[in-house]
Amino acid sequence: MTDSATEESRRVGATHDHGWLTESSHQTSEGLVLYVRCARCGVRRVDLMPHPLLPPRALSREQR
Ligand SMILES: [Zn+2]
Repeated sequence: MTDSATEESRRVGATHDHGWLTESSHQTSEGLVLYVRCARCGVRRVDLMPHPLLPPRALSREQR
């Protein structure tokens, strides 16, 4: 029991809601490509927003 509780707290401690900042973007035939970086941990990701009214989806995995 102690082991799973420790593992749970470690997992929660290692993650947070990334605060994505858009560093740059460009329009493609697929939609708007956004290059974003987390203000808190510096991880980067590439998102694609297929339509202005739709939320962007991740094109790439998060990477440092
Ligand atoms: Zn982050």
